[in-house]
Amino acid sequence: MTHFATSAIHADDQNNRVPDVAPPINVSVTYRYDNDNLKICDEKECLEEMDSVPVYSRTAHPNCTRLESVLSSILNGHAVVYNSGCSAFYAALVHYNPKRLFIEESYDGMHAIADIMTRNYGMQQHTFDNIEKYAQVGDIVHLESPLNPYGISSDIQALADRAHAKGALLMVDSTLAPPPLQNTWDFGPDIIMHSATKYFGGHSDLLAGILVTKDKDVSIQLKGDRIYLGTIPGNLESFLLLRSLRTMEMRVLKQSENATKIVQYLVDNKETFDKVLGEIYHSSLQDEPFVAAQMSGGYTPLFSFKLQTIDQAKHFPEKLKIFQHATSLGGIESLIEWRVLSEPELDQTLLRISVGCENVDDLIADLQNALQQAQKEEA
Ligand SMILES: *Cc1c(COP(=O)(O)O)cnc(C)c1O
Repeated sequence: MTHFATSAIHADDQNNRVPDVAPPINVSVTYRYDNDNLKICDEKECLEEMDSVPVYSRTAHPNCTRLESVLSSILNGHAVVYNSGCSAFYAALVHYNPKRLFIEESYDGMHAIADIMTRNYGMQQHTFDNIEKYAQVGDIVHLESPLNPYGISSDIQALADRAHAKGALLMVDSTLAPPPLQNTWDFGPDIIMHSATKYFGGHSDLLAGILVTKDKDVSIQLKGDRIYLGTIPGNLESFLLLRSLRTMEMRVLKQSENATKIVQYLVDNKETFDKVLGEIYHSSLQDEPFVAAQMSGGYTPLFSFKLQTIDQAKHFPEKLKIFQHATSLGGIESLIEWRVLSEPELDQTLLRISVGCENVDDLIADLQNALQQAQKEEA
């Protein structure tokens, strides 16, 4: 097996259909049957052959097939791609159909989907405290680590052990620590999800989601459901995402390194900006031993910090020139968000930063300038 960077560029060579070095965008939704080889197949055969012989693009199409070859290789399992991270989470719940979901703080879309399942089908929701009391075989424990918007990690293996002791499965949302930062499989989950809209896509121009499983049958069943849930990514998005994967390792390592340096700069300068800067949250600032083990490839490129007043926080983004004031994360451009705009229940002094691939000294200078202005306004 080749390493990440090589796999990201070559794991789909096996899927070449034309001599083009850059894969074409196949816009067709339908594909000519091979009149010399017409075969009526049952459902199982159709599922097994759908990637090698495209028929209709809601079922499978060449750009998505290539994408799944690369993702299965770099994610070390059987990857199934969806048209958003939310679709991926929904697909997992549809597939496992748990009676109980154990979930705590996680991306708001995951809670919204869980609430739909509760409303329509009576799925029960509990916090992790209640795993020992209520969890049974077939239930799902869902963990997001590192956790948005703080970028802090929690102990995946400990939770996997608690879920497994009751026969439940652990699903981990690893969106904030894609490979090569966190090798989530090392810590015992049963299924991993990612919003590929973020670091896999990396250019803020496509929506996609991924489920990865070690069990080939599960991946085939997920693909079977996906045909009728209608949640395969489109041709163009698949092409864009494939193109993004080619440079993923470089991008993500740079983003992680930049973020860790910026966080260190803020920690080192808390005194200088004593009238503005509040608490800073990032996995690099956690000292529990499991954090370094989980983030062995580098810390998440996402972090948050508080300013001392709501007014400071509200007006901080407008003082920055490089950081764009917008939601989302994972792109090559650095973003900042006054986080209550997305999560009104959070502390109004919280700002979230998604670090991109710009030069880190320029990013630090931009923040320093804004902090100096804010500090001066308090004088
Ligand atoms: C963005 C995000 C999602 C949802 O993904 P979409 O692609 O926007 O549907 C899920 N989990 C986390 C941690 C995210 O950041």
